Amino acid sequence: MQQNVERIVIAGAGQAGASAAIELRRAGFQGGLVLVGDEVHAPYERPQLSKEMLKPGEVTLRAMREEDVYETFSIQLALGTKATHVDAERRRLVMEDGTHHDYDRLLLATGVRPRSLPDADARRVRYLRTVEDALQLREDIEQGHSIAVVGGGVIGLEVAAAVNARGNPVVVIEAGQRLMMRSVDERIARYLDRTHRGRGVDIRYGTQITSWDASGMLTLSDGSRIQADRVLVGIGVVPNTELVAHLDITDELGVRVDACGRTALRDIYATGDVASQPGAGGFARVETWANAQDHAAAVARSLMGDASPYQSPTWFWSDQGMTNLQVLGNAMQGTPVLRGDEHGDRFSIFWLDTADRLTGCSAVNSPKDMAMARRWIRQSAVLEPRLLADLSHPLRDCLALAGATTEEI
Ligand code: FAD
Ligand code: NDP
Repeated sequence: MQQNVERIVIAGAGQAGASAAIELRRAGFQGGLVLVGDEVHAPYERPQLSKEMLKPGEVTLRAMREEDVYETFSIQLALGTKATHVDAERRRLVMEDGTHHDYDRLLLATGVRPRSLPDADARRVRYLRTVEDALQLREDIEQGHSIAVVGGGVIGLEVAAAVNARGNPVVVIEAGQRLMMRSVDERIARYLDRTHRGRGVDIRYGTQITSWDASGMLTLSDGSRIQADRVLVGIGVVPNTELVAHLDITDELGVRVDACGRTALRDIYATGDVASQPGAGGFARVETWANAQDHAAAVARSLMGDASPYQSPTWFWSDQGMTNLQVLGNAMQGTPVLRGDEHGDRFSIFWLDTADRLTGCSAVNSPKDMAMARRWIRQSAVLEPRLLADLSHPLRDCLALAGATTEEI
């Protein structure tokens, strides 16, 4: 443990904050540990908000951990108050209600919030980040409202699938020319377009809302009009960095950290969605469940003096109706090798670098391919593209050089 660290304060009681707090105790931190959050709920995981919570039947918020874990680990939960300012000189986290928490080390895990749509009709617009948002959207669906979804990213498509499954009319309005532009290639986007449309979701590309009238009629920039009782906006996010905006530890993406989660200030670390993390292509926010879990745990160990660089490839999944999509590593760059039928209901795309080493994979309804891809990426495996593309050839036998990995060569 680094010297004189008797008190660690974590700002943001979401998934990353809770994961870090628990890991700090597991790693042997015995000092004061406070987890501060502006939501009133004990930490919970957000994937349930766009999946289970929009389904029919009983609805309960699943907490991330059993209720007594914070007591067992002596983690003080300070919920329902927002942190407004970090006084780095005095090492003090100042709260909205005038109270403060002094720290030796501060971990920022404040996440992101939805980017808002300018000039939206506040009565009809919806966002999806918190359990309250999910309950409100659920009620809208149960009342039979038609819904226009702005943004063909993960939020938009998961919500569109959920609304469609409940029988309500739903239209996706995407400004770009295809779906999930930031994280998957064109073939996956085409598959998603086909399956969503096949189930009855209307999708409009290259257009945006230009005006709303009181009756629920939306006019789009291409001149078309859509009737929608509610508008769910999923057009990306902005980082919750205001409390440290004066400290020169942020960049345009979030709180800038090194590979161990350290900011430019020795006493302040960051993790989860709010962190601008180094990676192969420069700095990026990694807005995934796995990063909130694993990066946070790694940064907790870094706070304890075990500063090993965090190197896991990005991984996320998205459930959209009957589709389970999983994306690992860089699934947009290199040479793509298709395994399976992209016009069918399950296939994978493996991405190889110039030496045929696997660097990324996107898998549609193919969890076994993804499990293998994870192992191969960990091993820096070199693959044989011809075998990989041949479904009659078992996946496990697609390594180049008679099954060798670069580690073994
Ligand atoms: P958060 O979970 O957002 O936690 C940050 C917390 O800090 C929040 O409680 C926030 O209110 C609080 N906070 C912010 N500012 C302050 C302040 N000033 N003072 C006090 N508290 C503050 N990822 C996947 O990989 N797969 C999925 O299927 C998936 N589904 C998702 C579905 C939805 C609807 C959403 C919104 C996200 C989904 N994600 C998914 C992404 C994943 O949930 C996030 O990457 C993860 O929650 C990030 O954790 P975090 O702790 O960094 O941020
Ligand atoms: P994304 O960035 O994934 O997608 C936003 C989409 O909206 C992009 O395609 C974007 O296009 C488009 N867009 C931007 N502005 C407009 C506009 N004015 N009109 C129409 N379309 C527009 O963000 P989301 O909002 O979908 O997701 C928000 C957060 O939720 C992320 O942190 C995400 O990780 C998380 N999440 C993750 C899930 C998962 O991993 N399964 C599920 C649900 C949420 P362009 O790229 O061209 O700007």
